[in-house]
Amino acid sequence: MVIERRLAQGYEIVCSSGHHFVARRLGPTVECPICGETAVTTDLTTAFFGRQVAAVGD
Ligand SMILES: [Zn+2]
Repeated sequence: MVIERRLAQGYEIVCSSGHHFVARRLGPTVECPICGETAVTTDLTTAFFGRQVAAVGD
């Protein structure tokens, strides 16, 4: 599961099965409402913001 992008109303997230959904708030974990996959929020945000920093570095 990864955070696709930041939206005004929350975060657009894509799970491992390719389901797109919007999380209005990020709790300790994020759950896909379609297949029930869960992920730890800090893992998602670390990857998301790390990717942004890497992009700026390029
Ligand atoms: Zn899913």
